[in-house]
Amino acid sequence: MGIIDNRGRVINYARISVTDRCNYRCVYCMPEEGVKPRPHDDIMRFEDIVWLSRILVSLGIRHIRFTGGEPLVRRGMADFLVSFREEFPGLGVSMTTNASLLSRFAGAIARARLSGMNVSLDTLDGGKFAGMTRLGDISDVMSGLESAAECGIPNIKTNTVVMRGFNEYELPDIVKFSWNRGFIPRMIEFMPLRGDLWGREKFVPSGEIFELLKPIGDWSAEGRGREKAAGGPAKYYTDALTGLKVGVIEAVSNHFCSECNRLRITAAGNMRACLFNSEETPLLPAIRERDETASREAILRGIALKPKKWNDAADGEGHMSDIGG
Ligand code: SAM
Ligand code: SF4
Repeated sequence: MGIIDNRGRVINYARISVTDRCNYRCVYCMPEEGVKPRPHDDIMRFEDIVWLSRILVSLGIRHIRFTGGEPLVRRGMADFLVSFREEFPGLGVSMTTNASLLSRFAGAIARARLSGMNVSLDTLDGGKFAGMTRLGDISDVMSGLESAAECGIPNIKTNTVVMRGFNEYELPDIVKFSWNRGFIPRMIEFMPLRGDLWGREKFVPSGEIFELLKPIGDWSAEGRGREKAAGGPAKYYTDALTGLKVGVIEAVSNHFCSECNRLRITAAGNMRACLFNSEETPLLPAIRERDETASREAILRGIALKPKKWNDAADGEGHMSDIGG
């Protein structure tokens, strides 16, 4: 069923960052110089992640998403996913990736029978993409997406962080791009994780995002199915004509704290019960000791820190690349 927190929320979804390293430096996620990488010894080993996942599953976690940094820069990630799936055949297992290395690994990843994969896609314009990621080449992402679809990786979603003056007028094209390939597009409000990366002038609220999408669908009263995906933060709108969906993640303007079902574990094995609360509970010492009781206690202690609302306790500190988004 899940872990019930002290506000009655069911916690059944965990995001585990497998690395704090990334081959991109997206402007909304990292400073230009990157983030000082943690020493390898401080990062959870794959065996640590498996051991921790057993505890999480025994507590009631039903879905684990692997994220980063960029998960595919971690050596052995695709093989890890395959063995992870063998160990947890009934679990929801997914990954979020920038897709830069996906064409190389899609075949191997397909063997892991993931429940789904989210791919960041903020623009279709190669020049803008290079500027936004500082290090990226959009052709890698395009071939990554193509390989993922060809290899039969199911339930592929594209994630677009909407930033004023950067991609707001491109949203219809990004949605159509995804629809044409059988992916589900999702638009994400730009979140203020680090004040120096975020700016109010760059923020586009979900209502405006929906306005920008109006021309490409029939969102009439009957057709505008505004459904909340089970356990997820996105609200989905359905085009009445085609039945195709677009998700909007209102993380800022209409946050979903009362229904939040998730916990996050950084690559260094620190648990964050809320993305916007920098208070972290270290799990790694108990994991490395393989101490089940201490690990469970630490997880439950961490969950007790989950605030009622993000802006109650939030100081918003931390890099997305460390926390995992
Ligand atoms: N490197 C992978 C990727 O980019 O998909 C996984 C890690 S990334 C931190 C996870 C997600 O967080 C991505 O979809 C990214 O777009 C999103 N993200 C990062 N910074 C964000 C911000 N300030 N606001 C909203 N989403 C953000
Ligand atoms: Fe890397 Fe993903 Fe952050 Fe971009 S959003 S810098 S790809 S971790």
